[in-house]
Amino acid sequence: MNNSTFSCPRCGSDNTSSFALIHSGGTSAGSFQGVSYGAKTGTIQTSGRTGSQSLLAQQTAPPIRPNFVNSNGVLLTVIVFVVACVISVFVRGFATSVFGDNILTSLISPAFVFGVPILFVIYHNKQLLQKRELWKSEKAQWEKSWMCLKCGIVLINKSQ
Ligand SMILES: [Zn+2]
Repeated sequence: MNNSTFSCPRCGSDNTSSFALIHSGGTSAGSFQGVSYGAKTGTIQTSGRTGSQSLLAQQTAPPIRPNFVNSNGVLLTVIVFVVACVISVFVRGFATSVFGDNILTSLISPAFVFGVPILFVIYHNKQLLQKRELWKSEKAQWEKSWMCLKCGIVLINKSQ
């Protein structure tokens, strides 16, 4: 990896390095102004001094990939199904007492028992997809992030 395609816009140093390289421990950091990297917004903040290599590795860590296997989707769907079954009994009982036992009120139970879990699965999948898209954009931002090892400023390489 080319370590010096950037000169720091603040201090002019060529001692810049990508987040990936810093995180992997491929650089030795001296003592400089610490930075915290807001992965969501890409904002740059300077804070106190940090010379700690492990803290630096934390700050330059890639965004964590969402774990969809452990998202409890199946368990949640089962819970929603059970709740929908219970609610359907009450709703149907109420509807039957008001409108009588006809074809429409008899459809209330299957509509709840199947419809609600299906809607939940659609909603849950949408949430997971949104999480993945957010992670993708954070990852792309992280891949473009560099740091000046002299003054600690975070740089976004827009041409990368
Ligand atoms: Zn600098």
